[in-house]
Amino acid sequence: MSTNIDISTIEDFKSSDFPLVIAGPCSAESQEQVMQTAIELAKISKVKYYRAGLWKPRTRPDGFEGVGSAALPWLEEAKKETGLKMVVEVAKPKHIEKCLGAGIDMVWIGARTTANPFSVQELAEALRGVKIPVLVKNPLHPDIKLWIGALERINAVGITKIAAVHRGFFNYDNGPYRNLPMWEIPIELKRLIPNLPIICDPSHISGRRELLFEIAQKSFDLAMDGLMIESHINPSNAKTDAAQQLKPADLKTLLNNLIIRKEYGSNDFEIMLENIRREVDDIDSELLQILYRRMGKIEEIGRYKKENNITILQIDRLRKMIKSRLKTGNELGLDNKFLLKLLQLVHKESIQIQTKIMNDDKL
Ligand code: PEP
Ligand code: MN
Repeated sequence: MSTNIDISTIEDFKSSDFPLVIAGPCSAESQEQVMQTAIELAKISKVKYYRAGLWKPRTRPDGFEGVGSAALPWLEEAKKETGLKMVVEVAKPKHIEKCLGAGIDMVWIGARTTANPFSVQELAEALRGVKIPVLVKNPLHPDIKLWIGALERINAVGITKIAAVHRGFFNYDNGPYRNLPMWEIPIELKRLIPNLPIICDPSHISGRRELLFEIAQKSFDLAMDGLMIESHINPSNAKTDAAQQLKPADLKTLLNNLIIRKEYGSNDFEIMLENIRREVDDIDSELLQILYRRMGKIEEIGRYKKENNITILQIDRLRKMIKSRLKTGNELGLDNKFLLKLLQLVHKESIQIQTKIMNDDKL
């Protein structure tokens, strides 16, 4: 898949060596809550941006829907008082107009909005000619194309200060998470658009405070570019997302405990790494040759079954095959879950090859 994105880099967002940190309450609730939270967050030197939700997308119609534009003067005051830059979620063109009128420094498009190309297009039109950066959260479901499509729509109206926000994905089995991280998706986004800054939102991935550190650290270990993290002066009384918000003082501890690793090392380190990588390249090449040979044998089997009018699937054989490979893999110390996924994938491809043979008149 090729992408069509012309963007500037994370340096446009950052003003220090530490990755970008956007912190603030899930929702702006009152002038006092906005101001007190901002004053406490401004004491953390790593926090440069203040987030607050004004128009809250709620799953059910009876939830707190935010105070709307009434909070804009509160944010203006908080900015004057603390120097923090203000970041707000926009879901409608009207929200953009109001934010621009109030000197908001950055806006973000929420997960529910990203999922709707009509809405994203409307927002893009309203952003034409606008100079402030725009963040695009991943859509709720794990569809990287939809995420890229939204980024492209925003970029197509001339906005180059763009970053993606990884906030996890809806899934029926989320394990301990509120939204499954599925790290392979932001990694693939980085592969496709290397310049695009990706900011991790551990708050909406975790849904609870206890998991925030682990997710934030992992995002840094995966060379992500920053954090958007919810912080509230009094989390247990928060009107939205109470379980995942952190007190500013706890946020400070979390940020101070994060280990920042470099993406590249010294010359010696890079030479050594390159040597090991060359060995990995050779092993991968062998692996591909072996896979090619295996698929060749599968073709042979497919033709033989066809000639003899035998079904593609023999469940006994499949069960034995998986069992014996798992046993061997186990003895070698390979992770069982990984191995099972791999075997299922290889088997799926074998079925596909044999189906093609069965359906092809010439074979
Ligand atoms: C939020 O950031 O408070 C929010 C509603 O996030 P998301 O769009 O990721 O659910
Ligand atoms: Mn929230």
